[in-house]
Amino acid sequence: MEKVAGLDTFRVISERVGRFNVQGKTFLIPEMNRIGCHLLAGVFRGFGINSKVMETYEGLDLGKEFTSGKECFPCVVTLGDILLFMKKERERLGNRFDPENYMYFMPESDGPCRFGMYNKYHRIILDSFPGLDRVKIASLSSEDAYSLDGLIPKEKMQNFRKAAYLSVVVGDIIDRLLWRIRPYEREEGEADKFINEAMERVTESFSKNSSEKNLSIILDNLVEIVKQGKEIIDPNIPKKPLIGVIGEIYVRTHVKSNQDTIRTLEKYGAEAINASIAEWVNYTAYDQVRLAKIALRLNLKRFQLKEIKESILRYLKYNLTLFYQYMQQRKVYKMVRNYIDIEEDHKIGHLEKVLKKDNTFSFEVGTEACLSISSALEYGRRGYNGIVNIFPFTCMPSNLTSAITKPLMAKLNTPYIDISYDGSFQPGREAALRTFMYQAYQHFKTHGKP
Ligand code: SF4
Repeated sequence: MEKVAGLDTFRVISERVGRFNVQGKTFLIPEMNRIGCHLLAGVFRGFGINSKVMETYEGLDLGKEFTSGKECFPCVVTLGDILLFMKKERERLGNRFDPENYMYFMPESDGPCRFGMYNKYHRIILDSFPGLDRVKIASLSSEDAYSLDGLIPKEKMQNFRKAAYLSVVVGDIIDRLLWRIRPYEREEGEADKFINEAMERVTESFSKNSSEKNLSIILDNLVEIVKQGKEIIDPNIPKKPLIGVIGEIYVRTHVKSNQDTIRTLEKYGAEAINASIAEWVNYTAYDQVRLAKIALRLNLKRFQLKEIKESILRYLKYNLTLFYQYMQQRKVYKMVRNYIDIEEDHKIGHLEKVLKKDNTFSFEVGTEACLSISSALEYGRRGYNGIVNIFPFTCMPSNLTSAITKPLMAKLNTPYIDISYDGSFQPGREAALRTFMYQAYQHFKTHGKP
């Protein structure tokens, strides 16, 4: 492995991790939530960018080989994905392999936890392989609500942003459709098969129609899928306990990392619903509005005119983004809910109020903890039959969530369980989930389904 000197390390991080034009590159997306990632790849292809979702989890051994064991689990899994992809590409193409042709996508977030460091760490590891220093890492940040500026040409930006956000919402809805129909399917395996085909159909639709101003064809496809998916439900299967899933976004949505927890819950009689991806995207925009408001108040007090103007512009920009996102999300859910009763998303402002009411936690702390704690409270108060907190072993915000949420759920008499993952298989995990489901069933017998 080549040795990289200290100062050079900082230089490569600033020069080869950031916003680069992706035109002409193969844009590599690591899989998180499977459906949403494939739809996003479809959006990129719709704008003429050759985009691929990399095979996932098969490179876990490689990821572990180049980490120390102290890193967050999603960092290890995604590192394994990119290293294995590059290894296979090198073998496949031989002399024709040119690392310059690829761009690896690894977003980040600011704030107190380590997600901001994954792409820097991946950069250092990629640089230690001959030639892979030329694979650029494209990064977006929660600091500006994952604005796509710099990745694709300005003139295409507005349409791209609209299609990309729609892909997030549609991905969430297809996931929710799966969790709504699979526990009640007529034949085992029918729902999975249907959703896999649906994902391919909608991905194709995003590839064909994303660059059009009118995205209604994609929505028509979605409605068609929902109508067909509903038919998979066997009305003779009685209602089941409803479980809300919260936790760290990567592990709770990456089925292989969480060893398919939702399927295990279903095996023991649950209908489950995971927190959405759009919730996090909306949260990043909401947080920018919140921060701009704070900055504006401060600048007004100090009477700093230039800064006042800047914070007003910032406030308006993110408010408009959030307004558009909410409007789009509401519209799509409304269309779909005409045909099936899937759960809607929480509004972020409402979640902040939930926390403020009893001073339970503060958005000032940031991270997903503020979303997870408030969502669990919402679920609990609405009568969900149980809450599962899924997270990577040692995850800081999720441990915070656990410490605060567990006693709150006990007060509400809502069954609650924490499950952490680090790639190992624990013999007692399934037994713990089974016991949790027994408690959830008792809750369901007493209180019914919300
Ligand atoms: S949320 Fe948890 S897993 Fe993700 S970066 Fe922060 S500490 Fe690591």
